[in-house]
Amino acid sequence: MSERSYCEVADLADARSELDAIRHHLHKHPELSYEEADTSRFVADKLAAWGYEVTRNVGGHGVVASLQVGTSARTVGVRADMDALPIKELTGLDYASVHDGKMHACGHDGHTTVLLGAARQLAKTRNFEGTVHLIFQPAEEAGSDSGAERMIADGLFERFPCEAIFGLHNHPGVPAGTFGFRAGPLMAACDTVKLRIHGRGGHAARPHLAVDPVLVGSSIVMALQSVVSRNVDPNEAAVVTVGSFRSGHAPNVIPEDAALEMSVRSFSPTVRATLESRIRALVEGQAQSYGATVEIDYVPGYPVLVNSEAETAFAREVAEELVGPERVISPFPPIAGSEDFAYYLQQRPGCFVRLGNGEGKPMLHNARYDFNDENLTIGAAFWTRLVERFLARVRA
Ligand SMILES: [Zn+2]
Ligand SMILES: [Zn+2]
Repeated sequence: MSERSYCEVADLADARSELDAIRHHLHKHPELSYEEADTSRFVADKLAAWGYEVTRNVGGHGVVASLQVGTSARTVGVRADMDALPIKELTGLDYASVHDGKMHACGHDGHTTVLLGAARQLAKTRNFEGTVHLIFQPAEEAGSDSGAERMIADGLFERFPCEAIFGLHNHPGVPAGTFGFRAGPLMAACDTVKLRIHGRGGHAARPHLAVDPVLVGSSIVMALQSVVSRNVDPNEAAVVTVGSFRSGHAPNVIPEDAALEMSVRSFSPTVRATLESRIRALVEGQAQSYGATVEIDYVPGYPVLVNSEAETAFAREVAEELVGPERVISPFPPIAGSEDFAYYLQQRPGCFVRLGNGEGKPMLHNARYDFNDENLTIGAAFWTRLVERFLARVRA
């Protein structure tokens, strides 16, 4: 068997200063979900200059850069997210955000730069046969009606066919350059439930003439504790957290109504459906038993992110070749956060990869967070090698 050669991290060494500069530029100029006009133009212009066929404005500010080598009909997609968060940056870095109250606190500046690094390398070496589609997605942080949903609705997979799709997210707390893989459910579905309890306000001294929404809300909070403990299989994971409970203004007044908001997380469609039906039934039953009424606004967030078996095994193999098995964690533990890459995986097989951002580093969405630049060439080499291996030239 003849040995083929694929991209190594060292091949990207000469790109490091350019990638640092790109990442710091993006970090300095963060744009929120749906507002990524400048980021999108910056990315698209670079890709066009490197010889890609660039399609702009896919599902909003989305960019798809395509490169075909040879005549093979094979295809693959790799995605990076581009948006920032409404957080006031406290890093004190010399490339800190100049847009007040906006910050790349989730490392999407890094994900974008890593994929640009791969784009540059793939165009330079052209060591594959087939078509690669590099997908630069806006509005991952939106929570609903996100960039992935909008790009798919704009015909992403019809216009840019992908046999499989891959994406990555940095992971603080794990050493930089260490990859994490998990086949099956990796990240949670996250739904938000908003309740409006309508009672009947009155004098604190005459509770028998009122319907107290504070008591109704309290009963609901207590009753909800039974959902995870009594309705969910002990081998499955789920979270129901009431994060907000607002009602009343004075000690001597029974208020008219109360508002509760909760976050509901799960790792399987079955558990997700169980949670919804039990929460609705408990909330309505509790309210009714006190003579109150309740409006339930059950807002679905991103679905469970499920990695396919074969593509996860493949991506893990690529990482093991690149950085050695000692820098690969598999299976990586499931994560209670959610991610709109889940929508792509509902349409195509693929794998969402975790890449360590360094130990003892601030968490994601923290005002002191920063993407680890050591990962720029490692990540870019990983995507390059993954594309080369996926679209390997047919052996002579
Ligand atoms: Zn985030
Ligand atoms: Zn993120």
